[in-house]
Amino acid sequence: MTLATIRLDSLGHLVAHGYAARLDCGPCGRGADLDVEALIAQLGGNYPLSDIRKHASCPHCGGAVTLSMRRTSITAKPDGHPMAIPVRRPRSG
Ligand SMILES: [Zn+2]
Repeated sequence: MTLATIRLDSLGHLVAHGYAARLDCGPCGRGADLDVEALIAQLGGNYPLSDIRKHASCPHCGGAVTLSMRRTSITAKPDGHPMAIPVRRPRSG
């Protein structure tokens, strides 16, 4: 029996493997789930998670946020203030 390695590199991978992503702000303690489906509609399924980490900042205090992932099937959704995360499109060209 081989152990499959799950790669979670992009927004599309999250959905494909049943994961949710969450951003938490260290400085002010706010946090919320990403609206992954809306982001895919906006940015595309190939948008890399590392870019989200790079571009996202807390809309309340401007602090750096951390990205964490969890299986939606086995972990309940934690409480959180809704956060609109400004994520820019990758530069084209
Ligand atoms: Zn904050």
